[in-house]
Amino acid sequence: MSEAVAAVPVPVRIPVREILPWAVLVILLSLITLYFISAEQGAVSVFANSYVHEFVHDGRHLLAFPCH
Ligand SMILES: [Zn+2]
Repeated sequence: MSEAVAAVPVPVRIPVREILPWAVLVILLSLITLYFISAEQGAVSVFANSYVHEFVHDGRHLLAFPCH
């Protein structure tokens, strides 16, 4: 009679010190993306033309930001 060995899950340790720079980068890029989707138009626009506004226009309406 064979005895089954139960697999014991070993928790994976992810040190905060290793993921912190990547987390900051992802948060920063997310905030920049959110700015361009939500507020890049009119007087507060970074770029003078409306290419960015038109590029993210569907996303703006999808996320229910006011547009026009
Ligand atoms: Zn619109």
